[in-house]
Amino acid sequence: MHLFDEIAKKSHEQLVFCHDEVSGLRAIIAIHDTTLGPALGGTRMYPYKSDEDAIIDVLRLSRGMTYKSAAAGLNLGGGKAVIIGDPKKHKSEQLFRAYGRFVQSLAGRYITAEDVGTTVRDMEWVRHETDFVTGISRALGGSGDPSPMTALGVFEGMKAAAAFQRGNESLEGMRVSVQGVGAVGRHLVDMLVGDGAHVVVCDVDADNLAAVTDKHREVQVVDIDAIYDADVDIYAPCALGATLNPQTIGRLKASIVAGSANNQLAEDERDGAALAERGIVYAPDYVINAGGLINVANELEGYNRDRASQQVAGIYDIIRDILTIAKDEGKLPHEAADALALRRIAGIARIKSHYIGMPTSRRAGA
Ligand code: NAD
Repeated sequence: MHLFDEIAKKSHEQLVFCHDEVSGLRAIIAIHDTTLGPALGGTRMYPYKSDEDAIIDVLRLSRGMTYKSAAAGLNLGGGKAVIIGDPKKHKSEQLFRAYGRFVQSLAGRYITAEDVGTTVRDMEWVRHETDFVTGISRALGGSGDPSPMTALGVFEGMKAAAAFQRGNESLEGMRVSVQGVGAVGRHLVDMLVGDGAHVVVCDVDADNLAAVTDKHREVQVVDIDAIYDADVDIYAPCALGATLNPQTIGRLKASIVAGSANNQLAEDERDGAALAERGIVYAPDYVINAGGLINVANELEGYNRDRASQQVAGIYDIIRDILTIAKDEGKLPHEAADALALRRIAGIARIKSHYIGMPTSRRAGA
């Protein structure tokens, strides 16, 4: 691998390798773009087979965060970190504190949070060594579990997609399938039932299913694979990635896809086009599931739940704008989302080029 070629390919700014002999820390921090502000993105812990795999993953994930923050209207850039190791075997206080010191050494260019393989507790160790960590527990004044906010964003984005498609945002009487009733899916079901929607769910975990059906007797359960054939208006993937693919798209009866899962399209171009050909409105995943990110970003200004909820509810307008751009400019929705993010970055880069003298205070991202 030619490292600088790899970094330059998608215009990353910085790649930081962190090593601590005593704790065994091997971490890589990638900063993709800081035009809008400090690069925010979680720390993933995973037993990568090679350093190269870890580098490719952290470069890909950090770039995704640039687009996600930009589309969500946040004053944040894109970054991500990976710790090479098995989260079940290699965690220790020393490891996370050593990592925290490296994060601190970047002086705020990168702000971290939990991600796959790391927990709020790990981030509390990180926090002993750095100011630049978010997603802390509510007990310590943080925003706590982001899932309810992610669900709220999905719910709002779903209503925007319904309004776009049928001129009416109400989900009352609509049939919605929710694939996966874990942390996000179960909150989404609460909101859908509360709004008068007919809900169909599936999950591989019987306990998670029971938690939902005990609470809402009217919710219908279908087999894992039958979810793609369910007679519904809206399909909400809230479990796995790549569920929109040539094997599933033709089976969908839904005319809207709006869910929290990451990387819903197995292949962006092919599957995005296949949905459009069938007249299915797709709410781009990284936009509609940004509620958790907006929530943790709120911690940076002193967490306030009402303000965070209001900002998350703004996902309604963003999804509406993206679907409108897609229609007006003949783009697929995921292309329109990227275009919206890039336009915002270019616009802010332009205004930041104005010389503003010698200000006494500087806003975030200055
Ligand atoms: P989770 O692990 O709590 O829930 C996922 C649920 O899906 C579990 O109940 C699991 O049993 C179920 N599941 C797994 N395989 C399945 C299958 N084949 N069919 C049906 N159900 C299956 O995760 P979560 O936090 O609720 O996140 C759900 C999705 O949303 C993930 O893709 C995640 O990356 C994404 N996401 C979550 C957040 C958040 O705030 N939690 C934010 C952004 C994106």
